[in-house]
Amino acid sequence: MLNEFSYCPRLFYLEWVQGEFAHNDDTLEGEFVHHRVDKESGNIGVADGIEETENIHARSVSLSSDKLGIVAKLDIIEGNNDELCPVDYKKGEVPNNEYRSFEPERIQVCAQAIILRENGYRCNEASIYYAGSKIRIPVPITDELVSRTLKLVEQAKVTADCPAIPPPLVDSPKCPRCSLVGICLPDEVIALSRVKLNNIDKEEVRSLLPARDDALPLYVQEQGAMVAKRGEELEIRSKGDVIATAKLFETSTLALFGNVQVTTQAIRELCIRGISLCYFSFGGWFYGITNGMTHKNIMLRQCQFKTASEEQLSLHIARRIICGKIRNCRTMLRRNCETSPDAALEELARLAESALQIDSAGELFGIEGAAGRVYFSHFAEMIKANGQTIKFDFHARNRRPPRDAVNALLSFTYALLVSTTTTVLMSVGFDPYLGFFHQPRYGRPSLSLDLMEEFRPLIADSTVISLINNGEITAEDFVERAGSVALKPDARKKVMRSYERRLETQITHPVFGYSISYRRVLEVQARLLGRTLTGEINEYPMFLTR
Ligand code: SF4
Repeated sequence: MLNEFSYCPRLFYLEWVQGEFAHNDDTLEGEFVHHRVDKESGNIGVADGIEETENIHARSVSLSSDKLGIVAKLDIIEGNNDELCPVDYKKGEVPNNEYRSFEPERIQVCAQAIILRENGYRCNEASIYYAGSKIRIPVPITDELVSRTLKLVEQAKVTADCPAIPPPLVDSPKCPRCSLVGICLPDEVIALSRVKLNNIDKEEVRSLLPARDDALPLYVQEQGAMVAKRGEELEIRSKGDVIATAKLFETSTLALFGNVQVTTQAIRELCIRGISLCYFSFGGWFYGITNGMTHKNIMLRQCQFKTASEEQLSLHIARRIICGKIRNCRTMLRRNCETSPDAALEELARLAESALQIDSAGELFGIEGAAGRVYFSHFAEMIKANGQTIKFDFHARNRRPPRDAVNALLSFTYALLVSTTTTVLMSVGFDPYLGFFHQPRYGRPSLSLDLMEEFRPLIADSTVISLINNGEITAEDFVERAGSVALKPDARKKVMRSYERRLETQITHPVFGYSISYRRVLEVQARLLGRTLTGEINEYPMFLTR
């Protein structure tokens, strides 16, 4: 971690204090290079017990210094009774600089040398082995390097005890190579903490995040199917036959609908890899989730609980969430209605503005309800049934159970969206059950519902409208029983595909100006909510499309 602190104190804090970790190509390559030296072998014996003629060669040795309060795992230790030399393995090639190594790496091997000395061994030189060049670079343990290392040890301890995360590096060339850039959001946090939201210079925010995720959710709705782990894959079997497989590293979530079994081995692997396992009823009601150990960032949850327990702090966030939702509903009507519903657009603009002014949660619920009535009273005008025999009649929102085809589609896509926001929030470190607008209620993921408010029209409603307007869904896709309407299993597949397509749609981020998928927008939005709660940025930035 001293290596990370020397690279960037914020990186150290994110990894060491907040328990964040993410791989990128560099870290994966580094892990591979370490594979060989991570296997323990050899022994260095006690300091004064090494025979004069004895040659030492030990791998993966853990040592500590009580005085400094640090521990180290040394890749290789070589030497004899005169002197030991720690060798650290690095991927990549020898850097082209004066020292032929980077400072964080020199600090790391110097700390190892200090620990060896404290344990009674002589150590005046360490080495860094660059696997890319197959070259070993000696690092003399000079007084100057020792003093710099000790200073960083002290600074790292102070930083670890501090409740506030260090600020991001400004315009640093280190950030594009940092594996935690998607968690840290350096340019976004700097831009949002410096200026008013509508005044952000998009040029200042570099496009450092991957526009979309490589891993995707896996949906299983074959009744009686069994999901098992086979090597690096998930295998789905039905009646003894393999009906599908999915690579684990390409899976972000496993979503099960109805009676689908999962083996213990598969559950354990999903927990280890941080892949959420979401449970839905056959009809699409999201009712549970299995995850590995809870995210380690307890400070974020403390801030969440504190904010949720103070009405005015909660209201500050809730106002912006609801204002954002109403404005996005307005955009949907403006874009998709054949004839512009001017009065409704005006009313929604007024309600969005009022949402920012209110003083109580009760008033905000009133405004949100009024805006919902205006929006859904014009929802049917966005539907173009294109001569289908079924009329996608829609008069008002109804649910549990839905009483018409459009409401069935809306309920199903909202259930998918709440499961997506729940997994996103849990991966960021939030408790999804405690929200700021939605009040806590047994079994209700209130914060997931909060986060999805701005995205209901943009992701869920938009999916429903395009399914109907493109003719992907027809009358044959529904069953009606005792006044309730439900999607047939094959129709649910169509909806899931369309929903996933929507999440993968790339848009230009309205605040930062870079290209990004809706799926990643949800994560960025959750992280920015976290930065708002911890006080790094002043206002929760609404996500608004034009
Ligand atoms: S992205 Fe940049 S500021 Fe953030 S942790 Fe990494 S190096 Fe530090």
